[in-house]
Amino acid sequence: MHSNMTLPGLESVSIKKVEEVEGAYHIEVEMPRQAQTCPACGNQTSRVHDYRIQKIQHLKVFERTTYLFYRKRRYACSCGKRFAEANPMVDRYQRHSKEWNQALGLRVIQGMNFKDTAAQFRTSQATAIRRFDQVATTELQEVEELPVIKLMLFERSEQSVDGLDFGKKKRENETNDSSTK
Ligand SMILES: [Zn+2]
Repeated sequence: MHSNMTLPGLESVSIKKVEEVEGAYHIEVEMPRQAQTCPACGNQTSRVHDYRIQKIQHLKVFERTTYLFYRKRRYACSCGKRFAEANPMVDRYQRHSKEWNQALGLRVIQGMNFKDTAAQFRTSQATAIRRFDQVATTELQEVEELPVIKLMLFERSEQSVDGLDFGKKKRENETNDSSTK
């Protein structure tokens, strides 16, 4: 499958190889090599330090459990700092892709129960429940903040109420100003 086909969450990623291994999809991916901003000094660098392979569970492809084998590049800056490249797939210290986490977050809210949802995502019930707690906590905070958000809407009418929906990214900038009553 060497093609221009894009997969959800992998639009800006270069797919090196796809193979089926014991009924699962293994997708080898890489980011294009490009200049990075050093988190320590702010200069640009495109000097590659090394690569690490990171295995990440991704959304199922054609109903098969799917893993990304992400060849993560680390860059070296002239200031001495070494750091991993920016990437759209996975947050630091995560074993699941962002797409996978978002989809599970939606499904644990809408799904029938943790057992079926966990099975559908080929993960443990504990992971499904933990994800439910994260989403539920976000939602509860948003409900508590409803009066604040209404006020904000008067002040900044261009903002929609999309932030109240499940699965949408919480707008961080609205939490600080009026957290005290
Ligand atoms: Zn630097």
